[in-house]
Amino acid sequence: MDSKKMRFNTKAIHGGQAPDEAYGAVMPPIYQTSTYAQTTPGGHKGYAYSRSANPTRTALEKALASLENGTHGLAFSSGLAAVDAVLRLLSPGDEVIATNDLYGGSYRLFTKVFEKYGIVFHFVDMTHVPEVGQYINAKTRLVWVESPTNPLMHIIDLRAMAQLCKSKGVLLAVDNTFASPYLQRPLDLGADIVMHSGTKYLGGHSDVVVGGLIVKDSALAKELYFIQNAVGAVCGPMDSFLTLRGIKTLHVRMQRHCENGRALARFLRAHNKVEKVYWPGFEDHPNHKVAKEQMMDFGGMLSFLSKTGSYESAKRIVERLQVFTLAESLGGVESLAGYPASMSHAGVPKEEREKNGIVDGLIRLSVGIEDINDLMADLDQALK
Ligand SMILES: *Cc1c(COP(=O)(O)O)cnc(C)c1O
Repeated sequence: MDSKKMRFNTKAIHGGQAPDEAYGAVMPPIYQTSTYAQTTPGGHKGYAYSRSANPTRTALEKALASLENGTHGLAFSSGLAAVDAVLRLLSPGDEVIATNDLYGGSYRLFTKVFEKYGIVFHFVDMTHVPEVGQYINAKTRLVWVESPTNPLMHIIDLRAMAQLCKSKGVLLAVDNTFASPYLQRPLDLGADIVMHSGTKYLGGHSDVVVGGLIVKDSALAKELYFIQNAVGAVCGPMDSFLTLRGIKTLHVRMQRHCENGRALARFLRAHNKVEKVYWPGFEDHPNHKVAKEQMMDFGGMLSFLSKTGSYESAKRIVERLQVFTLAESLGGVESLAGYPASMSHAGVPKEEREKNGIVDGLIRLSVGIEDINDLMADLDQALK
């Protein structure tokens, strides 16, 4: 079946993934090789050296393209390596507009690495898309968006942003890590580049660090392939295999992540020790309407602030949790809790963080796929 015609749940299992040519292996073998025997110079079936291409990585890259309705996928050694490759499309003097409550690691890469090379960044509130237009000038090359944002779950209107970018001739890149392609497909909404930390929902089992880019334009794909090969931060064959294995159950896991996320968001909101819950599924969430339009459901990520709200009380809550694990990262089958201020966003200066609402007492949850009653009971005992 033509993978373009498949529905998402079928694509997760079969998209871009034909049985292996050599022996018909149903799962792509782990081609743990650096090089390929050539009969005449020019490579073997397109493979000459594993930085340039490796069949296990190709299988993952095709699966990524299929999931995001793109034409080309590229797999990197980490999410940040994928972000880095996009930034390398730019030249000194070029300007980038990025979401203000960006993933801390992306913020660090932009400000601590790329500013040194003369790239200029503007970090702006993107919840009102027309206001972003005032930052666009003749030097603007790229708009970098995360939606939902991390950790406050703001939703940015991707279709409106794509229209704005198109009208100004600016590239739109969307970090789709939090939503996963199960919930939202930015290329369909007009974005030019989709980026993933496959470490999170795509891998889904907290056992691999991997990144991905997906595009739908062959000239842009060619530029990115050049950077991928020239810079060399490629995804290894074992990591490609693990990510492909994770992708096979993406849709099933996401359904349960969403179901548990919904139940926990409501549970916390009704809890007498909780001040505020950040989750885009609430009807009074400021961007709920956009979320409902561009996402299939609301995902398994949420943040909350207890009534006390201090760092000490948040620390006490998190240390008491028994089913949730205090850890960095998200998107795995197990539930995790963390404090953005000292973990994912430690790279963002305190003043900048608090200006954007990321206060010290904020707790972020990555809701896993355990039994929901155990998750609720765990939070309840930790909040006492
Ligand atoms: C984790 C993460 C990244 C970085 O990915 P790595 O795989 O850790 O390099 C980028 N964006 C978001 C939203 C993330 O959660």
